[in-house]
Amino acid sequence: MILLFGPTGAGKSVQGKMLAARKGWQWISTGELLRQNADDQTIEMLKTGELISDNIIYKVFEKAIGDIYSNGDSNFIIDGFPRNKNQAEWFSDYIKKSGKQIDIVVVLEVPDSEIMTRLEKRNRMEDTPETIMRRMNIYRQKMYPVLGILADAGARIVHLDGTGTVGEVHDRIYSEVKIVCQD
Ligand code: AMP
Repeated sequence: MILLFGPTGAGKSVQGKMLAARKGWQWISTGELLRQNADDQTIEMLKTGELISDNIIYKVFEKAIGDIYSNGDSNFIIDGFPRNKNQAEWFSDYIKKSGKQIDIVVVLEVPDSEIMTRLEKRNRMEDTPETIMRRMNIYRQKMYPVLGILADAGARIVHLDGTGTVGEVHDRIYSEVKIVCQD
């Protein structure tokens, strides 16, 4: 299991999908699942850039994992979860109970100024300058406790440069993933 971390606009989704395609693994993005399936109230919440309530996220995550297992797959790349301390503790328990292991946590590092430039071009419903700033602040406040809990759960954490071309970033990620996941 691979976890992808990074602020909004760091390229988690593009990189997650590329890596999933190359390894034949499933990609789970809580943000993408919410955008596709959420009710009107949750969509309004998404537009503010605030985090969605933990209970909704657990449901979305468990459903996605359940679907993957029922398809006979067992390996996945998780993008955008866990995102706060409670979620990280919940996830750490989930890992223990399920007997799974986190092979690696990849943290994509991109300067705020470059994120702003990237998101101005992306044009998603929640990408206004105010919500972008809010999401970057939320990410930076909550990231360290989450990484601490994942490190305590035994995860190997690597911080990688998320700037450059999509291919360059993919190569950086892949060379780290190769060390821990040979299959
Ligand atoms: P993303 O596509 O990962 O940038 O997520 C888009 C939005 O979905 C975020 O700004 C949050 O509102 C919501 N979201 C995604 N994942 C989570 C999560 N693990 N916990 C709470 N909210 C989330």
